Amino acid sequence: MVMTILVTPKTLANHTIRDFRMLIGGQWLNGNAAPIERIAPSHGTVVSRFASGTRANAEAAIRAARKAFDTGPWPTMTAAERSNVLLKAADLIAARTDELAFLDAIEAGKPISQVRGEIAGAVDIWRYAAALARDLHGESYNTLGDGTLGVVLREAVGVVSIITPWNFPFLIVSQKLPFALAAGCTTVVKPSELTSGSTVLLGEILLEAGLPAGALNIVTGTGPEVGAVMTSHPEVDMVSFTGSTGVGRLTMSNAAQTLKKVSLELGGKNPQIVFPDADLDAFIDAAVFGAYFNAGECCNAGSRLILHKSIADDVVARVAELAKKVKVGDPLDPETQVGAIITPQHLDKIASYVSGARAGGAEIAHGGDALDLGMGQFMAPTILSGVRPDMAVAREEVFGPVLSVLTFETVAEAIEIANSIDYGLSAGVWSRDFDTCLTIGRKVRAGTVWMNTFMDGASELPFGGYKQSGLGRELGRHAVEDYTETKTLNMHIGNRTN
Ligand code: NAD
Repeated sequence: MVMTILVTPKTLANHTIRDFRMLIGGQWLNGNAAPIERIAPSHGTVVSRFASGTRANAEAAIRAARKAFDTGPWPTMTAAERSNVLLKAADLIAARTDELAFLDAIEAGKPISQVRGEIAGAVDIWRYAAALARDLHGESYNTLGDGTLGVVLREAVGVVSIITPWNFPFLIVSQKLPFALAAGCTTVVKPSELTSGSTVLLGEILLEAGLPAGALNIVTGTGPEVGAVMTSHPEVDMVSFTGSTGVGRLTMSNAAQTLKKVSLELGGKNPQIVFPDADLDAFIDAAVFGAYFNAGECCNAGSRLILHKSIADDVVARVAELAKKVKVGDPLDPETQVGAIITPQHLDKIASYVSGARAGGAEIAHGGDALDLGMGQFMAPTILSGVRPDMAVAREEVFGPVLSVLTFETVAEAIEIANSIDYGLSAGVWSRDFDTCLTIGRKVRAGTVWMNTFMDGASELPFGGYKQSGLGRELGRHAVEDYTETKTLNMHIGNRTN
């Protein structure tokens, strides 16, 4: 039994559908074609309309960003001036939390209480980027020999295309845009065509905060139409992409034609490795949170439990017991813990992974089916036990509330299973033994390894993937540097004596 909250039209009663426009060169524009209608995954009705951007809109946005970069004033302002705009934006984001959280909740189907946390996290990131803006500096070398001075500058890379997915609409654009702006870059942003509302509001916020026209352009629309131009246009200098590994590969290939700088945050299939001496009470909470946070539609989902054989049955029973208490339902209900699945097609994909695993011999320890809550599309938190490392459900990103349970007997075997797939975004290890934790921490090939905790983050800590989970890191103190080029000035000083 999963605790469910029926969905009714009541929570949407006061919502007015908004037509979101595009921001190009400081102007708000409608699209030429019919707008993209967003049907709420939880309520099954249209809740937003986004301008349907075209290739021509994307090209105009790139030209506007190019002009704003080449003629200023954003790249030529002092770091303190840029930092102040970012700080003002952070204040305005905080002030509009209700509006932003509501939009992400209804467009993405995410629990409103969770989105509020994401907006608070985003505010912190904007403030952190504002601080880094003032600490961006190069190096100088007066040790290269008499009459020689070397200076290494950090210059803004130029025009940056930013492309984001639907699962954390406001948080992910906030992991990229403030750092690009802090470096002095100008930008073109394309949010997911499923969840564009909060990104367009961010455009309003930044103009109000004093960002000059053209430094941020927002083109709503689909990937093949708008995103393809943004990843291949010769006047774009860098692409910062978050999304699936497949589209990430395409992005890199498009960008390779003109050798753009590329940063990719892609998929994950993250293991939590659990030893018999672990604090199991703490782990059970983290297992349920890790698997079902954001309905499992999370690159960081802890979707593979790798349990020591001696504790596997007990742990599965306890995880199932807690999973039964998870509240699935209306994202606008503050009590909801797991919201809706992004589209009906995606729900079908999740269900087919579950049926494939069952056909391959896995057993359902909990859930396993879609939930009928009266409206929208929902999936029961699901636990599959008896999963083998070669099964699709153990190797591929399901991107739904589906937890696969595998077992191990030796440390080496646990590491081998963890590393046996193409992804390497994050991992968790649970043990009270310091050596065990550090051994796993060093040997697992992932960008983040949590030890006796899971999915904690901070603006100061870099985040990104090994292997096919991505390229580059976001957040952390070097995040602004990712949006720069280094330039060497090699100088001769004084008279030439020979
Ligand atoms: P997606 O790859 O389908 O889409 C991501 C973005 O790319 C969207 O804006 C989409 O319109 C655009 N796009 C699609 N086709 C394109 C093309 N041909 N050219 C350029 N752009 C194109 O991903 P999604 O379904 O929106 O998001 C889910 C995926 O994102 C999952 O794989 C998840 O793991 C990943 N993700 C990764 C991280 C991370 O930090 N590593 C964070 C969140 C999500």
